[in-house]
Amino acid sequence: MLLRMATGARLPKLIALVTAIAFALVPVASFAQEQAGKGPPVLRDTETEQLLRDYTRPILRAAGLEKQNIQVVIINDSVFNAFVADGHRIFVNYGAILQSQTPNQLIGVLAHETGHLAGGHLAKMHQQLANAQTQLVIATLLGVGAIAAGATRGGSDNGLANAGAAALSAPQSVIQHTLLSYQRAQEEQADRAGVKFLTMTGQSPKGMYDTFKRFANESLFAAEGSDPYLQSHPMPQERVDALQQLVKTSPYWDKKDDPALQLRHDMVRAKISAFMERESTVYRRYPMSDTSLPARYAHAIATYRHGDLHTALTQIDALIQVQPNNPYFHELRGQALLEGGKPAEAIAPLRKAVQLSNNAPLIEMLLGQALVATDNGAYTAEAITILKAALARETEAPLGYTQLAMAYAKKGDYADADLASAQAAYLRGDNKTARDLASRAKTRFAVGTPGWVKADDIVTAKPSSH
Ligand SMILES: [Zn+2]
Repeated sequence: MLLRMATGARLPKLIALVTAIAFALVPVASFAQEQAGKGPPVLRDTETEQLLRDYTRPILRAAGLEKQNIQVVIINDSVFNAFVADGHRIFVNYGAILQSQTPNQLIGVLAHETGHLAGGHLAKMHQQLANAQTQLVIATLLGVGAIAAGATRGGSDNGLANAGAAALSAPQSVIQHTLLSYQRAQEEQADRAGVKFLTMTGQSPKGMYDTFKRFANESLFAAEGSDPYLQSHPMPQERVDALQQLVKTSPYWDKKDDPALQLRHDMVRAKISAFMERESTVYRRYPMSDTSLPARYAHAIATYRHGDLHTALTQIDALIQVQPNNPYFHELRGQALLEGGKPAEAIAPLRKAVQLSNNAPLIEMLLGQALVATDNGAYTAEAITILKAALARETEAPLGYTQLAMAYAKKGDYADADLASAQAAYLRGDNKTARDLASRAKTRFAVGTPGWVKADDIVTAKPSSH
């Protein structure tokens, strides 16, 4: 399953702020627009998330952050980017996964981001930004005030207006310079930390170096500020030179990726391409003449999405023959059947996928969806049990609550149905619908019962501003 959904979390504002201040120097008013934004669209997929967890776990342990419950969140964006924004999540665009040809390249980027987390750069950047923002506000007010004062003199004396313009630009360039040098120091620190974590875990820094060098080369040709990764990670030549000196000291420079891990990496890239890219692009990357397992995975997904279900099932069954215990092949079979309007037939492969994946919550939600979609009332109680178990471990998935609401409604339990719908709306960031549904749920529950309390929590919840 590769799902597109908006996260309940708010768009990481920090990068937007840094970008706005350090590069665009846009007026203060635009900050409010950034802050009013909803969460970024996020991709959810068990196979991809499991791979990224396996990439980050040793790095986080080396950084002493294994207890911090740091998550990697995949953003629905084809452009290469990776960044940290809130101290407990690493954001990775799917474009960064697609463009990383080896596990080591992506692990290097993740190690660098972990370096930012370990260095506490965000907290420090917040202070720096608060300071810079205040300065910017003052500078802008001063500048505008001076220009206005100049204008009221009838425009005969442009000297004052020019002075105002100077007041407007000079402090901003000072701020820009301060922030840029601060950011540069942080980048070099994160590079050093990243290489250290890679060495501690016996991994090569080559992937990190190659990726950053690629961006440094591109930055020579690209228009300034056009690339989001370069905006959040400036790559001046000195930084690349320093990194080059550093990586030379690694005893693991020549170490290659484990072939089994490379295959998992290639499978995930094939899946992302097949789910996210245009059909023609998928077949250009993976021509029919390519009979590798990743290519056949891409073909099967592309066929179920753009072609006919019967052919897709044949292709998926051929994959299952190669790897009978790969949970994601069974998951794909179930998803194809479910979306092909055959929920009853989707149940068996999804049960198998749940079992083989050790009850992965997102796959359980897909099974719950199939059980609810069958119109067979005998499945309703099981669907509720499975969905509740999945939501206990995956608390921020609106899809699970939506399916739970449908299951409760089928049972005739409208209080719990309203509550689950309210929870889904709340997680999608639709606070008004969430409040309306939760208010209705409150009238259906007895006052003070657990359901009533949960509904009341949503009714009284303040829209989060962070
Ligand atoms: Zn960085």
